[in-house]
Amino acid sequence: MKTFRCVCNNQLFFGNTVCLACQREAVFCPRCREVTSLVPNDDGTFHCGKESCAAHLQKCHNYVTEFVCNGGIEISDDPEQQQTLCEHCRLTEVIPDLTIEGNRELWARLEDAKRRVLYTIELLNLPIGRTENDVEPKLVFDFEADLDTPVYTGHDNGRIIINIREADDVEREKARVAFREPQRTLVGHFRHELGHYYWDTLIKGQREEEYRALFGDERSPDYDTALAAYYQNGPAADWQGNYISAYATMHPWEDFAETFGTYLDLVSILDTARHRNGRDFRGQDCAKLLAEYQQVGILANELNREMGLKDLVPEVFGPKVAEKICYVHRLVANAGASTKDEKRLTAATA
Ligand SMILES: [Zn+2]
Ligand SMILES: [Zn+2]
Ligand SMILES: [Zn+2]
Ligand SMILES: [Zn+2]
Repeated sequence: MKTFRCVCNNQLFFGNTVCLACQREAVFCPRCREVTSLVPNDDGTFHCGKESCAAHLQKCHNYVTEFVCNGGIEISDDPEQQQTLCEHCRLTEVIPDLTIEGNRELWARLEDAKRRVLYTIELLNLPIGRTENDVEPKLVFDFEADLDTPVYTGHDNGRIIINIREADDVEREKARVAFREPQRTLVGHFRHELGHYYWDTLIKGQREEEYRALFGDERSPDYDTALAAYYQNGPAADWQGNYISAYATMHPWEDFAETFGTYLDLVSILDTARHRNGRDFRGQDCAKLLAEYQQVGILANELNREMGLKDLVPEVFGPKVAEKICYVHRLVANAGASTKDEKRLTAATA
């Protein structure tokens, strides 16, 4: 993630709600897509503090009332059309029960991770299914707690369900150790589940043959058979040559989701390392991106090891794994290009 500037020239970070130098309130502006300071108007509304943008804004309801967001919403000319939730909060359909102590904090962590990951999706111009466009399936987030029945984190036809227990550090670390994962994070969950979403959006019914040639046939064995076999036998001993993670060996859908998630790791880390925001990942050579990611990864891993922390980039990118990552790179570039073209078309005809 890049950093941003307040009107006072102090640095602002993605999650900021206030500038620590001048105490001005900060907002993620939906027009210029930066975190900027809010310039108040007399009527309780605001302007984006970035001079070249100056969008007329109000704060998201989840910013003002719930303290789980720092998003702004553009003020509509038609008061009847005025949204009260920002574009990111609108995608969440089920929130935790806020009468239970601690749930607000878990919700805030979930929204923070979700916003961060969606920022990368937007950087890549990937289509997002919303009620106001014709992209299918629609993307929806549910943050649910175990009640009478356990909640499984997963994806179902555009609906990404996250068990709110995953936002609890102790619970998540227990699960990480139990499943022998090198990392388990909220952003990681969102990136993985979005991999399933983009399989539905970009591959299903469109590119299944080319996908199967690289990841295998998702129809046989079927998902449930593969799942049972994985939990009984574990991954093959030599999985590292062909798969990005042990879990990716379970089924071709999981292989794609794990690969897609890792591709989003790569994009967000290189974006942060080189402040590439605005620079187009589409035109870039995939082998060069991978080499650069490994270089940054080695440095970050060594820094982490010096501090006794887990590796930032635990994956090994053999030729077969690199081929899968580069497949995702081309897939995303294509989808991003057509989204951009559509936007241009809409702008031209509107
Ligand atoms: Zn400031
Ligand atoms: Zn702005
Ligand atoms: Zn919001
Ligand atoms: Zn999955």
